[in-house]
Amino acid sequence: MKPDPDFDLPAEQIRRLGRAATDLVADHLGGIAHGPVFGKIGAHASWFDEPLPEAGRDADALLELVRERVLPFPFGNSHPRFFAFINATADPVGIVADLVASAMNPNCWGGDHAAIHVERQALSWIAELLGYPADAEGVLTSGGSMANFTALAAARRATCPDVRDEGLPQHPRPVVYVSDQVHHCVDKSADLLGFGRRFVRRIATDERFRMRVDALEAAIAADRAAGLRPTIVVGSAGTVNTGAIDPLVELADLAAREGMWFHADGAYGALAAIAIPDAFVGLTRADSIAADPHKWLYVPYEAGATLVRRKGGLTDAFARPAEYLDQDPESPLLGPVLFSERGPELSRRFRALKVWLGILRHGRQGYARAIAADLARAKRLAELVQERPETLELAVEPTLSIVCFRYAPKASALDEQRLDRLNRRIANRWVADGSFFLAPTVLRGRTYLRAAIVNFRTAESDLVALRDATLLAGAELEKTV
Ligand SMILES: *Cc1c(COP(=O)(O)O)cnc(C)c1O
Repeated sequence: MKPDPDFDLPAEQIRRLGRAATDLVADHLGGIAHGPVFGKIGAHASWFDEPLPEAGRDADALLELVRERVLPFPFGNSHPRFFAFINATADPVGIVADLVASAMNPNCWGGDHAAIHVERQALSWIAELLGYPADAEGVLTSGGSMANFTALAAARRATCPDVRDEGLPQHPRPVVYVSDQVHHCVDKSADLLGFGRRFVRRIATDERFRMRVDALEAAIAADRAAGLRPTIVVGSAGTVNTGAIDPLVELADLAAREGMWFHADGAYGALAAIAIPDAFVGLTRADSIAADPHKWLYVPYEAGATLVRRKGGLTDAFARPAEYLDQDPESPLLGPVLFSERGPELSRRFRALKVWLGILRHGRQGYARAIAADLARAKRLAELVQERPETLELAVEPTLSIVCFRYAPKASALDEQRLDRLNRRIANRWVADGSFFLAPTVLRGRTYLRAAIVNFRTAESDLVALRDATLLAGAELEKTV
């Protein structure tokens, strides 16, 4: 028996492949602004219906395949004119970090090896960047959805201590409160954690899309009167629709008064506290926070983070006591943290490396500058929209880096339904022709073009082009709706 040379490549060949791959990456990123934003595969889909290869092929040929069939058809979020969803552009330092992380390929469930200490450090730095206690219990997750799920599992265990053996109590039944702008992943988590969607209250928001505390108080009182148990309140620290920040101080006060767990969904917004801490006062009083390094730390997918203030908050929800006690205390393997006991995953990739290197590379100041620049881009786009009041309508002043606006000429006779259709058609035209990528959203029943900017590559000229393209496409498509 000997090593298999097709798998165990000699160092020289790894070097050659790696250099060729790096050239591909540099060409791809260097040329990105010249290609379409969204790289629709369309008729080429059959490329990916090939028969299963029985024999393998040369490793160098693989890169050619990637160059021809994969790289020209991107989702688009590295492009300076990508404004859809909240999908950030990746920091090249993170791209390189992922290569190294995959090369090392440690399993990050625990143990006294470097990757575990890198993650421990990255998490305490994230906590510090948020103004949260640096010794908060944390874990890196695949993203914000898992970060919210993980935090809500901790909330469930803390508020319903028998839940792991008995399931959720039926009497009194726990109730979760969210705003009508909450990210759908919180609904999904409440569902998966057994709360039941009938026991998730969607609280109305004010004119700036922030949770109305008076409406929350009324809902809590009504539920108590009905014999239910208000248990968890989720505040959004940056909603996905408009970037609104719920009144975090009031939510923290109310949760304390009512004996409820206060969770902050900061997947998008929380890390903007690095640049504008005053907008996030109250965040640090949350019992748990979800934040997404793959949004405003610009690390490549995937990296989310869950932080829980109380030590033991995560392990109480996820540790398996029997296995834990089985560990040999004399083992040299034992490290400072068992991340597998802080979340649902056992095998975990080394996603901490890109987060750690990103923070080392840019520091607090570098991120503050980059995030402030995204906020300034949004402000500028809102101004550009407002310069055309006869044709364009801004939904709400941006709080963070999301700008919702629509083409709605004052002089036109289009009714609201046709305006909705028109604005959807504008966005669809851009996705199809590759010029921009925006995902529309619905606010108070009406369709808006929604630009979310987490993109250090976007220039002012891209914003002007977007505004002007809206005027042009709107005028052209007006007759079609
Ligand atoms: C992006 C986002 C999520 C979901 O995070 P993923 O990383 O996409 O799973 C949750 N909440 C908010 C507010 C978000 O912006």
